Amino acid sequence: MYRHIKIPTTGEKIRVVDGKVVVPDQPIVGYVEGDGIGPDITKACLRIWDAAVDQAYGGKRKIQWCETYLGEKAAGLYDGNYCPDETLKVLQDLVVSIKGPLTTPVGGGFRSLNVALRQDLDLYACVRPVRHYAGVPSPMKRPDKVDVVIFRENTEDVYAGIEYKSGTPENAKVAKFLREEMKAKFFDGAGIGIKPISAFGSKRLVRKAIQYAIDNGRESVTLVHKGNIMKFTEGAFRNWGYEVAREEFGSVTITEEQLYSEYKGKQPEGKIVVKDRIADIMFQMMLLRPEEFDVLATPNLNGDYLSDAIAAEVGGMGIAPGANIADNIAVFEATHGTAPKYANLNKVNPGSLLFSGVMMLEYMGWKEAADLITLAYPEVIKDGIVTYDFARQIDGAKEVGTSQFADALIERIRGGIDLEEKRKALQESLAKERKQREIRRLLQPMEEMIDTGRIPQTVGALMTRTLITVTDDETVEAAMHLMTGNDVSSVVVEPNKKGEWGILTRRDIIAKIVRGGKNPATMKVKDIATRPVVSVPAETSIRDAAGIIAEKSFSRLTVEQSGKIIGIVTETDIVDAVERFGWAGETA
Ligand code: NAP
Repeated sequence: MYRHIKIPTTGEKIRVVDGKVVVPDQPIVGYVEGDGIGPDITKACLRIWDAAVDQAYGGKRKIQWCETYLGEKAAGLYDGNYCPDETLKVLQDLVVSIKGPLTTPVGGGFRSLNVALRQDLDLYACVRPVRHYAGVPSPMKRPDKVDVVIFRENTEDVYAGIEYKSGTPENAKVAKFLREEMKAKFFDGAGIGIKPISAFGSKRLVRKAIQYAIDNGRESVTLVHKGNIMKFTEGAFRNWGYEVAREEFGSVTITEEQLYSEYKGKQPEGKIVVKDRIADIMFQMMLLRPEEFDVLATPNLNGDYLSDAIAAEVGGMGIAPGANIADNIAVFEATHGTAPKYANLNKVNPGSLLFSGVMMLEYMGWKEAADLITLAYPEVIKDGIVTYDFARQIDGAKEVGTSQFADALIERIRGGIDLEEKRKALQESLAKERKQREIRRLLQPMEEMIDTGRIPQTVGALMTRTLITVTDDETVEAAMHLMTGNDVSSVVVEPNKKGEWGILTRRDIIAKIVRGGKNPATMKVKDIATRPVVSVPAETSIRDAAGIIAEKSFSRLTVEQSGKIIGIVTETDIVDAVERFGWAGETA
């Protein structure tokens, strides 16, 4: 028995069985109305979600809502307690819940309620989908190209709260240890913060992101990090991320290196590409080539910045949805605050909470209801029916209140939308875009690497793969014609009887034909080719390849895979890559 919370007797609880959410037809879902504008948007959204579920399932399914209390409403009911234990217990018990914004009481040593919730319930993944809805004002030329889901680690990083204020005894103690024991150098009186990033924290976050990509038919997961500078925290996050992909999802993931080196840029059906990007490049990329990115997994601080920056691209700061998720509990929430000046004025945009509810329906597997809202929403905006915040950005729009906006949306949801037709059109356009990206990768791999912010790490990513091959018995003259005609400085020689591959370079011709006064028309390739060649696997790091080239004084290495030569990487390729991308070895 709870003091104030009444669990509906008509519904059943959602459960998690073997890691999967099991949702009955009449699930009990928790909600927190929130403070300030919370009640206005919650009332409106409850009506919209109910209408969508009813319309999608013809009354067969219905959410049984259970009100729980946090913030000011809780303080009124629970003798000044903003975060009652029974609410935390019920949220855990019900598995899925949704909340409006909450006021953080000022002063008195209160933790932010949102932070308290995340910590107490160990909600380790902050999930923010960002996509554009037709008609929503945006600063981008093509906001429709943005469609990403950000998985931000929620518990570690500089947000772990391990900080020592300048001038305090604690700070002096830590500074002394760092200087004397660890030989660290920094200015006197510096404030000190610690940035813990663990294998446990990183892996559980990336695991969730990859699982999401699988469940939702997404194309790629990008690990966003600053590993080039912070090797043992952000760099480790990246490495642990790849480890999870390899060890736990090996049959359904490939790396971007493999995409280029094994699959020549053509993404195999049913495989998700796992790639990584340096955080600062990611901000550029989300403006220049947003369509290249799908699911992002990132440590706490990068994720904080990225979520808001990307949401702003689609004009969605006010309508950006979010959720905080752990293994057995998910709390969906409006991402804006309580905007107290608009409280109870029936004025604000319900979009953020509304789309958090759409995420929640998707999480529950009730995709048909979620799609009804997603598809009906742009129809309302296109008709110019908007709340004040959009009205001030759209010429000729009709400003309505929160509840009138909900009425207009419900009317369109009820009016019947051909879900099948819309879904087909969406799938066709996604397939078309995917094909275009694939063609670009196939035709211009190096240009694509640069344009999509990728930094090559291995020889497989750098090599020239259009190989010109000759056989042993061809004349040197014929081989020279091929080199000149194709503007290359070497050709690969097909295996001899012993199965050894060879290479014939311009330098061989200078040294063994020109200097020796031999006739290229009569000399055979086998007379002057170098054998056996020095081959390295495609996964060899650029640094290791440079080591071999330097040690053996070669100017090129062949790249092999399963006993076959698939490309050549030259010293020029390596120097070019270092010049173009910076020192690529830094992040390895
Ligand atoms: P805020 O409540 O998000 O409001 C800032 C401004 O954003 C508003 O004045 C309004 O802009 C616009 N806005 C916010 N929600 C909107 C909506 N639904 N529709 C249209 N416009 C909307 O941020 P704040 O003023 O910094 O914070 C107020 C309180 O909220 C604080 O107590 C803070 O701690 C709390 N907060 C809670 C959460 C949460 O619970 N998740 C998050 C952030 C802040 P205009 O003035 O331009 O119209």
